[in-house]
Amino acid sequence: MSGPILPGATLGVLGGGQLGRMFAIAARRMGYRVHTLSPEDDSPTGQLSDRQVRAAYDDLDAVRDFASAVDVVTFEFENVPAATAEAAAEQAPVRPAGAVLHITQNRLREKGFLAASGFPVTPFAPVRSEAELRAGLAVLGTPAVLKTAGWGYDGKGQVRIAAVEEAPGAWAALGGGEAILEAYVDFAAEVSVVAARGLDGSFAQFGLIENQHRRHILDLSVAPSPEAAAAPGLEREAIVIARGVLEALGVVGVLCVELFVTGDGCLLINELAPRPHNSGHLTVDACVTSQFEQQLRAICGLPLGATELLRPAALANLLGDLWQEGEPDWAAACGFPEVKLHLYGKAQPRPGRKMGHLTALAADAGAARGRVVAARAALTGGARHPVAEAAAVADAADSAKAGAAAGAQPAALRRGAA
Ligand code: AMP
Repeated sequence: MSGPILPGATLGVLGGGQLGRMFAIAARRMGYRVHTLSPEDDSPTGQLSDRQVRAAYDDLDAVRDFASAVDVVTFEFENVPAATAEAAAEQAPVRPAGAVLHITQNRLREKGFLAASGFPVTPFAPVRSEAELRAGLAVLGTPAVLKTAGWGYDGKGQVRIAAVEEAPGAWAALGGGEAILEAYVDFAAEVSVVAARGLDGSFAQFGLIENQHRRHILDLSVAPSPEAAAAPGLEREAIVIARGVLEALGVVGVLCVELFVTGDGCLLINELAPRPHNSGHLTVDACVTSQFEQQLRAICGLPLGATELLRPAALANLLGDLWQEGEPDWAAACGFPEVKLHLYGKAQPRPGRKMGHLTALAADAGAARGRVVAARAALTGGARHPVAEAAAVADAADSAKAGAAAGAQPAALRRGAA
């Protein structure tokens, strides 16, 4: 095996979004050069790169050209066609390998692989016709969730089916094609494990992060996970699963395992992301090594960094909806001294579009959550610092006390709490 790829080398990123942007920031800080290829101009990654190539992912000549000018290729957009990863691999190592992408970019292949490898997954059935949908519903029951097998993320291409009679409408809504039917999991919590595997097989993970979604899009993440604090053994079990997944796939890089915690405390894998993950953005401000630096270390064949959480942290996503009444009040969020603002350089704030995030640090997870929620509210005049912050911290402390008194986790951290 050749030696590590050292500072001064050039790293190639397929994809132009915020994940590549934060990777580029980590790479530049460590003295690497970054090239990016994506179909857009002035992309979030491109803005931070030494060179941005505008080309379609299926322009294989452009991909080969791009890869021939870099020392290693990684990706931040997992729906890159398999042929693109193969073309890149003719010129430079691609990490994680195209085979990992191939499995994880299709929900049926992913769940099939996980189930066959013995990992716990949400019960599912393949669906390629309305008849198969009915057959699947007969086995899995209702409610259930029908999802497109490919190209689905952030709740796109998903329909919830409450009763069998809804099958024709749900099938029509998805527009045909290959789909997966999943049993609806009435989860107690959603969690994720962001983990990395080095070129030498070494493994590192960032602990259990607890997530709340709104309209199927990640809204809030908190670390350490209050659910894990309330259920001894849960975090260890999730980490064993994550390690097994990275090893079974032979990942070199970062991969996130998203899981449901069921009412009786079992873990079920919802999905995999073969790259840094939205929930792991809090590692940038809260951990010794961020998930992006870890990705860099892994793909460059460097030793993995320490993942220790320096302080409890919470992250709140900033979606384009926040711009509805005009530009958010950035100064108000910056008025929270322990809140960090991250913006992705996107010009068009469309509803549901991830434009940035806030990370708050605090003495405990509940206080961090209260602080980040208050800071986000301040962006649209919903709360004003420092009064809002004081109120949020007091709220979080109260709810933590109430939770401890009841022998339970803070109610505000449970699913469904706004
Ligand atoms: P996904 O794109 O599959 O990660 O789904 C986005 C979000 O939708 C998840 O994080 C859950 O909040 C919800 N969801 C997806 N699949 C299911 C399921 N089978 N049961 C319950 N909730 C689900």
